[in-house]
Amino acid sequence: MTQATRLDRPSETVAERPLVFVTLGAPGAGKGTQALRLAKELGLPHISTGDLFRASLRDGSALGDEVRKYVEKGILVPDLLTMRVVEERFAQPDAIAGAVLDGFPRTRPQAEALDVLLARQDAHVAAALYIEVDTPELVQRLAGRRVCSGTQQHVYNLATRPPRAAGVCDLDGSALEQRPDDRPATISARLARQLPPMYEVVDHYTETGVLHAVRGDRPMDEVTADLLRVADRAAKRA
Ligand code: AMP
Repeated sequence: MTQATRLDRPSETVAERPLVFVTLGAPGAGKGTQALRLAKELGLPHISTGDLFRASLRDGSALGDEVRKYVEKGILVPDLLTMRVVEERFAQPDAIAGAVLDGFPRTRPQAEALDVLLARQDAHVAAALYIEVDTPELVQRLAGRRVCSGTQQHVYNLATRPPRAAGVCDLDGSALEQRPDDRPATISARLARQLPPMYEVVDHYTETGVLHAVRGDRPMDEVTADLLRVADRAAKRA
């Protein structure tokens, strides 16, 4: 699939125009995992704005100082600042061929700014891949997270990665705990805050004609296969 996908696109087009995929999905939809898989299969860099912001906090860079107050509270970084970071990342040599975007765009203005950025290179978003999972299922998935109380904080999920013995970490035998913000009431509040901007981005890509929805409430490999099929078709059209 990897080679086929890369070769299906005429090489001169790859050199001229970046092939950009946006991944969309609520927390718990499996977007991060799928975006990484897609990037690997398509031979494109995986660009996560969350990762870029967290790296800037670790580096102690000037950007880190600017974004700390937002990232640490889980509030969206202002659009202009986010766009600066994205533009800088797009200017790196590995992004010449394109990218699989994860966690960006998060707002309609960011989606519009990305269109403008790509239009400068005579390009556009090849496909916005929306991994759809119903809200009750999301709450159930997120509420299933259990974290080991030992120093290493190993992470489990009652639905997708249960421990061998209930309530006990497989790796160091510590008790497993549920974080306060993973309780269903807190999760519902978090989703209520985060979903409306995502739906605006979904609407934007519906309007621009590049939205492709894939059901995310299925085994992970099936979801990946569907996303790759959509991406492959979009790559041929781009
Ligand atoms: P994530 O890992 O995608 O959940 O992002 C972690 C944090 O980084 C978010 O809670 C925001 O503070 C910030 N962030 C990541 N991506 C964006 C974005 N596209 N726009 C604004 N803030 C973002």
